[in-house]
Amino acid sequence: MHELFRRLPSMDAALAELTAAPDLAALPRPLLREAVTDFLDSLRRDIREGRVADPAALDPAALRPALAAFARAACRPHFRRVLNATGVVVHTNLGRSILAPEAMAAVADACARYSNLEFSLATGERGSRYSHVEALLARLTGAEAALVVNNNAAAVMLVLDTLAKGREVVVSRGQLVEIGGSFRIPDVMARSGAILVEVGATNRTHPRDYEGAITENTAALLKVHCSNYRMIGFTSEVGARELAEIGARHGLPVIEDLGSGSLAELGGGPLGEPTVQQAVAAGLDAVTFSGDKVLGGPQAGIIVGRERWIARLKKNPLNRALRIDKMTLAALEATLRLYLDPEAALRRVPTLRMITATAQELRVRAGRLARRLRRDLGAAAVVGLAPGMSRVGGGAFPERDLPTTLVTLAPADGTGAEELRRRLLGTDPPLVGRTQDDHFCLDPRTLGDDEISLVAAALRQALVP
Ligand SMILES: *Cc1c(COP(=O)(O)O)cnc(C)c1O
Repeated sequence: MHELFRRLPSMDAALAELTAAPDLAALPRPLLREAVTDFLDSLRRDIREGRVADPAALDPAALRPALAAFARAACRPHFRRVLNATGVVVHTNLGRSILAPEAMAAVADACARYSNLEFSLATGERGSRYSHVEALLARLTGAEAALVVNNNAAAVMLVLDTLAKGREVVVSRGQLVEIGGSFRIPDVMARSGAILVEVGATNRTHPRDYEGAITENTAALLKVHCSNYRMIGFTSEVGARELAEIGARHGLPVIEDLGSGSLAELGGGPLGEPTVQQAVAAGLDAVTFSGDKVLGGPQAGIIVGRERWIARLKKNPLNRALRIDKMTLAALEATLRLYLDPEAALRRVPTLRMITATAQELRVRAGRLARRLRRDLGAAAVVGLAPGMSRVGGGAFPERDLPTTLVTLAPADGTGAEELRRRLLGTDPPLVGRTQDDHFCLDPRTLGDDEISLVAAALRQALVP
C-alpha cells in the first residue's frame, strides 16, 4: 500500500497532464487545482479500501482519461446548455424561447462594441434607448406608442403603478389568475398600490358588472389573459372591444395583460388566440405581453398603446429600475424586424417554427432520430415510435395540444423510465425528456436537427456501460 501511495502523481504532474488538453488549460487554475486535490483524495481512499491494487493503474498516462473527465465535470459552469426533448416549446424552466440567428448576431455585436444605445446619431447628443424599437412595435401592432421593460410582470406593475396607484382597478373575478413563479394578479395589484375591485362571478362577467363598479375613484379597467387555464361550460366574459367602449364612455384607460401576446396569426383556426394587433385594434389603451413567450425573442415586457398613457409610463421613476439592457434591445429589435415579413418570421424565429411544425414533418424527424438511436444504442434499448402531444407552454394556448410523434425508449436491462430520466440529467449536455406509459420519450419538436448526435451521445452515456 505504501508503494501505491508513493506512485500517486504530484499536484504538478497531474496539472501537467490536464493542461495538455486545450479546453482544460483554458479553465481557471484554482478550480483545476481543487479538482486535482479532490481526485487524488478519492484515489487515496480507493487505495486504502483496496479498490486499487495495481501500481500501473496509477501511471499519469493511465490516470489521464479519468482525471480529465473528473476535472471537466468539476469545473463546468453552473448555467449550462441542455437538450430539450420535452416537446414544450416555451419551457420557462429551460429558458423559454431560443433566439433566431439574426437576434444572436445582434446580441454579439451589441456586447462586443460600443453602440448608439442612448446616443442620437442625428444630433450627436443624448438619445433614448427606447427609440430603437418603438417605431417598429408601433408599425407591427398598429399602436401609437410603445415601451419595453425587463419582463411582462414588470410591464403590468409599471402600468398599474403609473395609472392607478392608490385608486381602484376593476377586474373580472374569472381573470384573477396565478401564472406561476409567484405572479398573481391580486398580489401584483397590491404591490403596485392599486386597489382591486372584483366584479362578476367566477364563470360569468357582464358589461353591466363593470359599469356598476365604476366610481369617481376608479382609475382603470383591467383585462387579464387567462393564459394557463381555460373556463368551459356556462361562461361569458366581456370582449376587448366592448370593454374599450365602456372605458371610453367613462374616460378611463382600459388595460389588457395579454401574457404571451402573439404577433403572428398561428394557424388561424385551431390556435386562434387574439394577436396583439387585434387587441390594439379593439381600442385598448395599453396592452402588455412577454418578449420571450410566443413572440420568440429575449426576456422583455412589451407595452403598446396610446401615446398619452405610454408617455406617462416613460416618466415614472420606476421605469428606470425596470429598464432593459442593451443585449435584450439588440435581440428584440432583430426579432421584431423578422416580423416585418410574416413568412420569414415563421421560418426564422425558432419558437414559431417549432409551434407550426406539421405532424407529417415531425413523423419524419422522429423516424430519423429513432433510426440513429437504434444504430448507436444497439441492443442497449428498444427504440419505438408512438403518437403523442407537444405543448406551446409559457401559459399560452393551454388546451391546445399539438400532435407529434414521440421516440420511445425501453432500456434492455430493465432500467425504468424514471431512473433513465434521472440519469440523463447527469449527461453532458444533460437531456431533459419526459415519461409516458412507463417509457422514456423524446419529442423531436423541440430538438434541433443538429442536436441528434448529442442526443445519441447522451443516451449512450446513460445506457451503455
Ligand atoms: C407569463 C405571464 C405573465 C408574466 O410574464 P413574464 O414575462 O414572465 O414576466 C403575466 N401575465 C400573464 C397573463 C402571463 O401569461
